[in-house]
Amino acid sequence: MAIAKTPIMGQPLIQPDTMTKFVQTVSPAFNPEIARQFYQVGSRYGVRGDIALCQSIHETNWFRFGGLVKPEQNNYAGIGATGPGNPGTTFATIAEGVTAQIQHLYAYASKAPLPNGEKLVDPRFTLVTRGIAPNWEDLGGRWAVPGYDRSKFVSLQAAMDAGETYGQKIVKLYQSLAASAPKPNNPPVNLPIVVLDAGHGGTDPGAQGYSIVEKESTLDLVMRTASLLRSRYKVDVRLTRSTDVFVPLPQRASMANGWGAAYFVSFHHNASGGEGFESFVYSGTRSAASGQKQNMVHDSIMKLLGPLGVANRGKKEANFAVLRETTMPSVLLENLFVDNAFDSVLLKNPTVRQDLAEAIAEGVAAAMALTPNNPAGYPDGTPDYKVQAIEWLYDQGFLTDPVWKQQPNAPLPLWAEALILQRLYAMLKS
Ligand SMILES: [Zn+2]
Repeated sequence: MAIAKTPIMGQPLIQPDTMTKFVQTVSPAFNPEIARQFYQVGSRYGVRGDIALCQSIHETNWFRFGGLVKPEQNNYAGIGATGPGNPGTTFATIAEGVTAQIQHLYAYASKAPLPNGEKLVDPRFTLVTRGIAPNWEDLGGRWAVPGYDRSKFVSLQAAMDAGETYGQKIVKLYQSLAASAPKPNNPPVNLPIVVLDAGHGGTDPGAQGYSIVEKESTLDLVMRTASLLRSRYKVDVRLTRSTDVFVPLPQRASMANGWGAAYFVSFHHNASGGEGFESFVYSGTRSAASGQKQNMVHDSIMKLLGPLGVANRGKKEANFAVLRETTMPSVLLENLFVDNAFDSVLLKNPTVRQDLAEAIAEGVAAAMALTPNNPAGYPDGTPDYKVQAIEWLYDQGFLTDPVWKQQPNAPLPLWAEALILQRLYAMLKS
């Protein structure tokens, strides 16, 4: 008979708060720090810390102990406990005890060396044949011997078939823990949809001058603006194109209409005799919602460009297709003249381009009264211990780009890890 197996390796899925509540249903005095450590250490090793907690529930009788091992040993899985007279290892702290247990599981389930920067605290790590038990169900007869109740079953296999081995009992506990987790109660939030429309594209290059091609420049500005809006505000940013493709004008409008967009912003550059910045709304809508939003976007942009010496050509109306055919408020930005000597120098300056994207993003945010992401950038509900640990990296100067805060559970790319190590090294040397 095939026995379902549950891998030991993997990121914990159950939050520490849920683990604590689960244990406290039986042991009200349970220390939440233990659950936090199972989650944190498990995350560092890629070991299911949430299931490891269930192993400890099984080993310690719901953290009430009462066997050979005493609570003050911080030993939650009977490591080194062999019988009367040998109550097993005592660990200095909760963190060390949990780390030893996670390391012991890691020894069983993986052949990899300890993760970088980790110190070995499991006294029995080297006694394990590395990687011999990748699943919880494989631990019967290994971590626990015999790993089943001899008074009930004639063999480990018989106990396994009945679902009563050491590992299977742990997995059953975990299933109860997982069932106790609050159901994700984040109903789909209807974020306001803002459409950014990069003018031209594909076979239609748009205006050209001073080696600036309109279709390339509008797309670049759209991508910068989208990224800023997404990172700073609760908004659903959508693009009519994100690559160098031709999209007919009616299709741009119908995409936005179909999405039920709240605002449509078209990015263009001017050419053919003139200089400066101007913006357009559909004819007759200067006094309506489009015009009110235009005021805020236009003013935000001129607040940047004015001091740079850019001419303000004004807030205008025109019968442009994308403005006419979109059913929501819309604006078309003519971001300087590509064939004007003064304007083109600004357009080719990456700092100005980023500042312009920022001015557009902030103008759109003001016009739409967008809600900022929480000030530091962490997703809602990020636990304090994660925030504190990450903030420490910023306080030390090891991380500087706040964008990392938006994904506290995502792995860092290699180059970012390298950067952190370089900065750490430089700090230690100085
Ligand atoms: Zn254009």
